Amino acid sequence: MIIRLRDFCRARRDWLLETIEALVRLESPTFDKAAVDRCGAALAARLAAIGGRVTTLPREDRGNHLRVEFGGGESQVLVLGHFDTVWPVGQLDRMPLTRKNGRLYGPGVFDMKAGIAIGMLAARALLEDDGNIGALSHRIVMLWTTDEEIGSQTSRQAIEQEARRSRAVLVLEPSLPGGALKTARKGCGGYELVVRGVPAHAGIEPHKGASAVQEVAHQILRINAMQDLSRGILVNVVKVTAGLRSNVIPDEARAHVDVRAPSAAAAAEVDAALRALTPVDSRTTVEASGAFDRPPLERTEAVVGLYRRAREIARELGHDLQEGETGGGSDGNFTAAIGVPTLDGLGAVGDGAHALHEHVEIDALPDRAALIAGLIQRIE
Ligand SMILES: [Zn+2]
Repeated sequence: MIIRLRDFCRARRDWLLETIEALVRLESPTFDKAAVDRCGAALAARLAAIGGRVTTLPREDRGNHLRVEFGGGESQVLVLGHFDTVWPVGQLDRMPLTRKNGRLYGPGVFDMKAGIAIGMLAARALLEDDGNIGALSHRIVMLWTTDEEIGSQTSRQAIEQEARRSRAVLVLEPSLPGGALKTARKGCGGYELVVRGVPAHAGIEPHKGASAVQEVAHQILRINAMQDLSRGILVNVVKVTAGLRSNVIPDEARAHVDVRAPSAAAAAEVDAALRALTPVDSRTTVEASGAFDRPPLERTEAVVGLYRRAREIARELGHDLQEGETGGGSDGNFTAAIGVPTLDGLGAVGDGAHALHEHVEIDALPDRAALIAGLIQRIE
């Protein structure tokens, strides 16, 4: 069965490449709703053309999300991804769509337009191939969203709602180097520390002032010391703003803190530590606000079970499928955190997400689609 799926997918390699290239050509930076919607409309037409029942989930400030259903069946498997990218319109001129040395280069190709096309081919394999027709017991629901790159504020609810109805969630985000799946992702978030001091003339009576800049310097050292690499806890002040004029003891400073943690418990620990910060200079005040906006994707039994199944299928395809973890978050963090078995990094094999050398390995694409099709079929 799996070999049939593979042969079906390999025979449609050109269709796959053409689909990926069409999506990459329609540049879709998260903040440009008009551009994202142009890409979404083309994607919707292509999904409908292969038998998908497409619903548009309209959004005012962001691009419209797409929900697509394939097949029937009582139970549901959710296939998840996004078509927004980090690249501005015009990036194609600087990173032209190029096939070279077995690779396809272009903005957003790896993260994650190739993943979308792979998912589409997997659905085709399950629905069109003679030997597999009727073998699909689950309904496939795909959610292709438009704001993953900025935290998924307008899609999270739909993602969680759809995940709750699903037996499993397959996230077609880029793989780790060499094709490995992501069975653990850190939770991540951002905090802002606001420090308030007392302003005073820096030349006439500086002793009457309490410097927010000096205080934030103390706090930055404390915050960065919360980092614990051995436990996978990352805490870093990444942006500081303070001071207004050259002759005034500054009365306000702000520090933005990037936080990452491998477990819900570790995230709670970081949250508590940031909120418990107290001033060194008692004339100043410090206050931290913020949250982990993506919970960790923890390597639970449910996640491992799904990975083992995928590895088994990959072996039948002749591949050694590894697993690994990453510090970056995805929408898989949401679905795993509510307890739905989630497997991430099932998308393209390649390198350079958010980087100028972004590319996918062309030869690996069809088998990746076969892997996803086989996995959907074998989910219980
Ligand atoms: Zn992505």
